[in-house]
Amino acid sequence: MARIDLHAHSSASDGTTSPAQLVRHAAEVGLDVVALTDHDTTGGWDEAEQARPAGLRLVRGAEISCRADGISLHLLAYLFDPYDGPLADALHALRASRVGRAERMVEQLVADGVPVTWGQVQGLAGGTVGRPHVAQALVDAGLVGSLGEAFTSEWIGAEGRYWVGKEELDVVRAIELVRAAGGVTVFAHPGAAARGRTVGHDVIARMAVAGLAGLEVDHPDHTAHERTHLRRLAAELDLVVTGSSDYHGANKQVALGSHLTDESSYERLVERATGVEVL
Ligand code: AMP
Ligand code: ZN
Ligand code: FE
Ligand code: FE
Repeated sequence: MARIDLHAHSSASDGTTSPAQLVRHAAEVGLDVVALTDHDTTGGWDEAEQARPAGLRLVRGAEISCRADGISLHLLAYLFDPYDGPLADALHALRASRVGRAERMVEQLVADGVPVTWGQVQGLAGGTVGRPHVAQALVDAGLVGSLGEAFTSEWIGAEGRYWVGKEELDVVRAIELVRAAGGVTVFAHPGAAARGRTVGHDVIARMAVAGLAGLEVDHPDHTAHERTHLRRLAAELDLVVTGSSDYHGANKQVALGSHLTDESSYERLVERATGVEVL
């Protein structure tokens, strides 16, 4: 059985392993297929391609920051044409908004006398800047003991004291943009309730109508109960079921390859893509 992990982050967003280290690590842990899915960017694609070990298949992708009914959600996009204008512009706008938003979080911290600087956060971000970089600055300044402690209401957890929201794409628009660029989409961790509010069935049904291809069911943030429920929903809506680690290097506890996708599901996804090839 092929070992397939369809969701991993590198230092092109908020992972701690470079794209080159990520593909090497994927081969070392015995994966046959890995997807590189950095937040709102394809910035790691070239480096991963150059370093890809023989025998490892690389699915190029991204995890897009989206919104539906006022709720934040993440959309995995695979095998789209990175030069497609409308999609590339949309990803660029998301990244640009993240910069201003991270700067505002730092400004608010500084205004309260917290010893972090924008330069420090910029130095921690090797690509798409995100809250994990601000959280790392708080750890480095000795204000919190771990990244997780920064994701609370006292710091930069959702709606927290120093939290600032970011721009997000309407999820139906995002699905349409990715499809127009030849890609396929999977709703990332749809049941990760610990991160904040999750969307209801009505939204997932609307996403399916817009052309969503799959649901990420086997994810470290889902309980067994949520997985059962999502598997049933996927069957009802004829969506592909995937599993993935959402690896972030040292920024999270989870190991690359800890959650996997079936070969038949993987093939169903790849069949629908026309943007770029699996490498
Ligand atoms: P952002 O997209 O900049 O708002 O940052 C969200 C990212 O922070 C998520 O994609 C996760 O990778 C990370 N994250 C969220 N909650 C936690 C947590 N409790 N501990 C560590 N990282 C987290
Ligand atoms: Zn992340
Ligand atoms: Fe996510
Ligand atoms: Fe992710």
